[in-house]
Amino acid sequence: MSMKDTLKHRGMRNKLAEVVAAKGITDKQVLEAIKTIPRHLFLDSSFEDHAYQDKAFPIGADQTISQPYTVAFQSELLQVKPGQKILEIGTGSGYQTAVLLHLKAKVYTIERQQELFKTTSLFFKKMYYRPKKMIFGDGYKGLPEEAPFDGIIVTAGAPEVPRALLSQLKVGGRLVIPVGENEQTMTLFVRKSEKEFEKKELGAFRFVPLLEDKN
Ligand code: SAH
Repeated sequence: MSMKDTLKHRGMRNKLAEVVAAKGITDKQVLEAIKTIPRHLFLDSSFEDHAYQDKAFPIGADQTISQPYTVAFQSELLQVKPGQKILEIGTGSGYQTAVLLHLKAKVYTIERQQELFKTTSLFFKKMYYRPKKMIFGDGYKGLPEEAPFDGIIVTAGAPEVPRALLSQLKVGGRLVIPVGENEQTMTLFVRKSEKEFEKKELGAFRFVPLLEDKN
């Protein structure tokens, strides 16, 4: 993979940020992340010319890098503040992880596909992206040993909301999760107290499925 980032790439990123803003994203830090992060390096070099289109692309192991608008939408909903502890389920290419790092979050990220876990771990080392922890495993269970979190983001479509994730939120914390089988409804949960959650549904999206490891 070529690791070059050129002025041309930067120009395309600025345009992509404009496209995403035109679709309704207003968070300045999130738009800044899109202008900064070299998305073409998160993809196979055969996609280099397309990397700054607002589209999802295959990343191997039957998975996809999310569409930039979707990444921006989920990131905006999380309302990340510097230093916050954020759990991400579905590392994939690592692009969403890089956005969270740009927002200065302490990121814990879980991936269940071994190949993707390995490639993305190596890529992060090369790129000096530093999540607090990258975990190979099943994100359905969350990460109880590091809980509670200020925010949890799920980047795969969940047939149902994993209870473990709700229980690992701080009071005031936010869970952003696409819920549904074929098509998903982006859903935001805000923990109002130990026992109360506010729920908002925010439109239709399409994700690869969140798979539960039953063993
Ligand atoms: N944020 C990623 C999205 C990748 S697609 C990106 O933009 O590149 C969703 C990812 O979730 C896939 O890599 C898939 O393997 C992973 N995934 C699915 N079920 C999972 C689970 N139970 N735990 C952790 N990761 C999971």
